[in-house]
Amino acid sequence: MMSNENKRLNDIISHCKEYGFIFPGSEIYDGLQAVYDYGPWGSELKKNIHDLWWNTMTRRYENIVGIDAAILMHPTTWKASGHVDNFNDPMIDNKDSKKRYRVDHLIESHAAGLKEKGNEKEALELLDKAEALLAKDDFTGLKKLIENYRIVCPLSGTCNWTDIRQFNLMFSTQFGSTSSADEADNLVYLRPETAQGIFVNFLNVQKSARMKIPFGIAQVGKAFRNEIVARQFIFRMREFEQMEMQFFVRPGTQKEWYEFWKEERLKWHYSLGIPKEKFRYHNHTKLAHYADAACDIEYEFPMGFKEVEGIHSRTDFDLRNHQEYSKKKMQYFDSETDPSSGKPYGNYIPYVIETSIGLDRTVLMVICEAYTEEDLSDGGKKDSRVVMRFSPALAPVKLAVLPLLKKDGLPEAARKIMDDCKNHFRCFYEEKDTIGKRYRRMDAIGTPFCVTVDHQTLQDDTVTLRYRDTMLQDRIPAAQVKDIVWKAVQH
Ligand code: ATP
Repeated sequence: MMSNENKRLNDIISHCKEYGFIFPGSEIYDGLQAVYDYGPWGSELKKNIHDLWWNTMTRRYENIVGIDAAILMHPTTWKASGHVDNFNDPMIDNKDSKKRYRVDHLIESHAAGLKEKGNEKEALELLDKAEALLAKDDFTGLKKLIENYRIVCPLSGTCNWTDIRQFNLMFSTQFGSTSSADEADNLVYLRPETAQGIFVNFLNVQKSARMKIPFGIAQVGKAFRNEIVARQFIFRMREFEQMEMQFFVRPGTQKEWYEFWKEERLKWHYSLGIPKEKFRYHNHTKLAHYADAACDIEYEFPMGFKEVEGIHSRTDFDLRNHQEYSKKKMQYFDSETDPSSGKPYGNYIPYVIETSIGLDRTVLMVICEAYTEEDLSDGGKKDSRVVMRFSPALAPVKLAVLPLLKKDGLPEAARKIMDDCKNHFRCFYEEKDTIGKRYRRMDAIGTPFCVTVDHQTLQDDTVTLRYRDTMLQDRIPAAQVKDIVWKAVQH
């Protein structure tokens, strides 16, 4: 039996494919695991979220500028960042199915199964024990835990496990044309996070844009992780996009800035029109090697509360290490007066607060929130619709222009509205099928407004404006359509 949560996620996945949001990558070759392609409406939605984040970061906050760094970086970057040594996950293989699992995921899904069966207490006990062992990297203890709880491989159903080992999550490739002898020298990585492109450009940006601390650098770009257990649709992909901002502050002020960004970022999530109770903070107890404080903003997906964004106080770890590995100074000269000494603060390596959000995960969040199945049965007549209740600012298509009939000069009148609107926001023109079917298709991709052009339009130049959520209709002058829609789709 499929749980309700899984059913909802599966319905969403099918809807995304059928209505042109997201397709499995390379589908004609049976797909490539954990790789997805965005279709016509998914790519519009993703771009709208991208633009909203970018505009918030680089416009609302006057002291943040953007960059667009390369995916390929000098290999030493990843030594300095700690990714070569630390970007590992403990993995375990089942000897019968030969399948490899991330230990934390294996234990989490077993705990979720226990919860579903009503054994809440046992599930929490298991998670507590696992967290303590993971914090100590106690692999022997973790393997014992897996065996004691008889956690089996979902494929083979056996508890026949190898020892736990660490695997690096970075993808590597060869740079330039190489002979096998010097392959190792030419090894480069596909970046596993966008943050390092910001750190290595810290001084270039600070000097060229004349930035004064505190200031931030924002970036949106692809990142790659060879996730071993990549499941749950676009929640965990091997190729994905991050929207990251590194905020450089005076050492000693990081705590205040960390709290500031924690709050600002949660407000941004609320601004997407998602109810507050669908979010929560998860404060980290086990900190990454670079952090002195960290939390996640979690959203309640159909499969439970999960991370969408991380906020990390990264100390001066990255800049200090880049200084050490590159032998280039990463210092900032702060000419402001320190009230305690009466002298300028002088030279220091700034501390960093990072806000790091997955663009694809945000797309999934927005899709999950919007997806609504509605029963519209009226007396004996059965009817239903799927409507994507996107906020108008995020909706892939803002306005559908629909002539009631494909004759009598109605298409020409509708075309005039298209021409008036199409350069201002994404419009969609359609004349095929009954108007009811066309409305349903627009509901399914989340178009907030439809205007219908009928015979009355030819007489008095009015149209019906139909609202997606209420399905109510107003009669308005055709000349007002552009302004009404334009106003409604602003964030
Ligand atoms: P997780 O614990 O889910 O693996 P993480 O803590 O490793 O995530 P970060 O390194 O903090 O994630 O990355 C910041 C953000 O990037 C995450 O909050 C998430 O939204 C996104 N992200 C990370 N890995 C993936 C992935 N494989 N697919 C899609 N988005 C991802």
